[in-house]
This record gives sequence, structure tokens and C-alpha cells, in this order.
Amino acid sequence: EEFEPVEAARPQTPVKPMTATEVKVNVSIPEAAERAAATGADGVGLLRIEHMVLTLGKTPERYIAEHGARAYQDELIEGIRTVADEFYPRPVRVRTIDAPTDEFRDLEGGDDEPAEHNPMLGWRGIRRSLDKPDVFQQELAAFDRIYEMGYDNVELMLPLVNDSDDIEGAKRQMREAGIDPEEHRWGVMIETPAAALQIEDLASAGIDFASFGTNDLTQYTLAVDRNNENVADRFDETHPAVLELIGQTIETCRELGVDTSICGQAGSKTEMVNFLVEEGISSISANIDAVRDVQHEVKRKEQRILLDSVR
Ligand code: PEP
Ligand code: MG
Repeated sequence: EEFEPVEAARPQTPVKPMTATEVKVNVSIPEAAERAAATGADGVGLLRIEHMVLTLGKTPERYIAEHGARAYQDELIEGIRTVADEFYPRPVRVRTIDAPTDEFRDLEGGDDEPAEHNPMLGWRGIRRSLDKPDVFQQELAAFDRIYEMGYDNVELMLPLVNDSDDIEGAKRQMREAGIDPEEHRWGVMIETPAAALQIEDLASAGIDFASFGTNDLTQYTLAVDRNNENVADRFDETHPAVLELIGQTIETCRELGVDTSICGQAGSKTEMVNFLVEEGISSISANIDAVRDVQHEVKRKEQRILLDSVR
């Protein structure tokens, strides 16, 4: 009987190498760290620091003016360490501050905030950070101190970037705060069509990862306010236009060796998980309660892909 190598039955075109998709978890408040870590997630795909700041009851500017920059750093460090400790050595992506002006207006010192007609298109995320280097420097100083303490699992993530100018501005600020961008893993959120369409530029600015913030990417792609109940039924993260932006971005990132991830709500949804695994995303970050289901769905999908590839 002649030996027939299994390879002969396989298609001649090489199958795209598909590394296992990691499943991470989103953490909005440090108090949830233990519960989040207990899910067995591969890390934290998004740690929001808004809650740490908003619970101070004062705008960052007011808090720093009254309590000093060091105290502000200490508050952030405490929150971030709580999560980084719980997950160590699993990676924790910490996003720099991203609260719209209307959320700051309710705080002490909020009277100094501009009354914006449309805060979601306004002064938030990296835009505000770059325009307010005094505050951003204190945030970055907190990261620097955390790195100094040996937390090599902490990764810095920039919100609402549009283009490489935003990134270059942020890198300058990082260096000024004593952080060498070459020495740490850091990346950006993909939350605007501009960022998705210019992913090659963003990648050449040296990012290690790009993470889809589908809550915003959907709102800005479809021009559907994510907080407006009149158009809530039109808010669709699986709209073909949104999927097209995501799919193309993943493809380009794979070519360029940049990790991709999702940390918007859609990462917790079955349909999106299947699409993302098929596209070859590096990791999916889900809500605490959804991690287990997403882990199972990822496994199922990866097995189907593997079976299809050898058939
Ligand atoms: C997003 O936009 O999908 C996201 C994760 O950020 P946030 O919800 O905090 O705007
Ligand atoms: Mg967002």
C-alpha cells in the first residue's frame, strides 16, 4: 500500500497563519479587578481611568490646584496598581483619560469647563490631553512611576486619535514625562473612521497595538449618537460600513505586525466575535459577565476555521 502524505490533500496556497485569539476583559472600576481576574481572561483590554478621576469629585485641574500634582498621581497609581497587581503578569491596557466636557461640568471646578454644543465631537480624549499638557504630564508621570515600580505588564493606550500628528504629540509628551516609547508597549484606540483609514500612518508612528473602540467607531461612522434613544435602533456595530473599516484595519495591521484588539461593547457579542476571529484579530476584550461565553465562542470559531483549512 502506497503512503499518501496528508499534505497532498491540502490546498497549495498557504493558509493564513491564524494564531489563537486571546480573550481579555474590560475593567471600568478598580474594585472589579478581582472579579475580572477570576474570569481567567488573558489580560485587561481596557482599564478606564475616568471613574478614578470622576470619583475625586473635582476636575483634574481643580484637584491638582488644591491637593498637588503628586496627590493626583497617587490616586491614579492606586487604581491602576489594584488592577495590575491582580493580573500580573497578564497585560493591562490602561487608557489615558477620555471624559467629555459635560461629565467634567458636574464636578467641582466644572464651571471652568466649556459648554460644548456637541461634547462627543468636542474636546475629549487625546485632543484635550494634548491641549492640556499640565494635566496630561501628571497622568503620564503616574505611568512613569508605575513602570519604575516594575509593572512591566502595564500598557498605555491613547483614546480618540485621528492621525499620526495626535500620536507624535502624545509621544513628545511621553518623553517629556520620562517615558521612552521604545521601551514600553503602547498603542491607540481606533474610534474614528479617520484613524481606521489612516492605519498605515498610525502604525509607522510606532504603535504596538490598535484597539477598536466600536462604541465610538460606530457612532462616528454612522453619525448615530450613541446616547440618543431616538436613534438607538440605528446604532449597529455590525453595520457593513463599520465591519469594512474594522476588517481592512485588521488586514493592514497583520501585514505590518501590529496587534489588533477590540474593547468596545461589541466584543461581547457572538456575531462580532465570529467576524473578528475570521479576520484574524489578535485579542477580544469583553465585559466581565461575557468573558466565559466569548472564550467558548472563540474556541468554536477557531476549530471551524482549522477544520475548513484542512478539508
Ligand atoms: C469605545 O468607544 O468603544 C470605547 C471602548 O470607549 P468608551 O466607551 O469609553 O468611549
Ligand atoms: Mg470610546
